Amino acid sequence: SCVFCQIVVGERAATIIHQDALVTAFRDINPQAPTHILIIPNEHIPGIAEIEEQHGDLVARMFATANHLAHSEGLSRGYRLVLNQGPLAGQSVFHLHLHLLGGRAMRWPPG
Ligand code: 5GP
Ligand code: ZN
Repeated sequence: SCVFCQIVVGERAATIIHQDALVTAFRDINPQAPTHILIIPNEHIPGIAEIEEQHGDLVARMFATANHLAHSEGLSRGYRLVLNQGPLAGQSVFHLHLHLLGGRAMRWPPG
């Protein structure tokens, strides 16, 4: 019933731009920047709170994929990675996901 698990196995449509044994990356359905990609573990991990020592390779792959996609998206002048954890941060999908945002100037602090 998790929408991101459904995207990983192809049961739900998404514009997938990278998939390997550990992670899947696809375009956000409601983009907040010219580039807005979500990088997720193929395995269902609800959020940062459930990351364990054994997920080291997986977490490293998420960041390595962000770096790879930032290059292929032409974000040489910078980009932002966001992880929303819990309701106060606005997490709305409880399957860990790293937002890759780029293609426009980012504000600080984030809203
Ligand atoms: P959160 O607010 O949990 O950090 O981010 C969830 C993100 O997932 C949102 O930016 C939302 O637009 C995106 N999203 C939610 N459902 C879907 C979907 O079915 N397909 C895609 N491509 N993105 C989704
Ligand atoms: Zn899931």
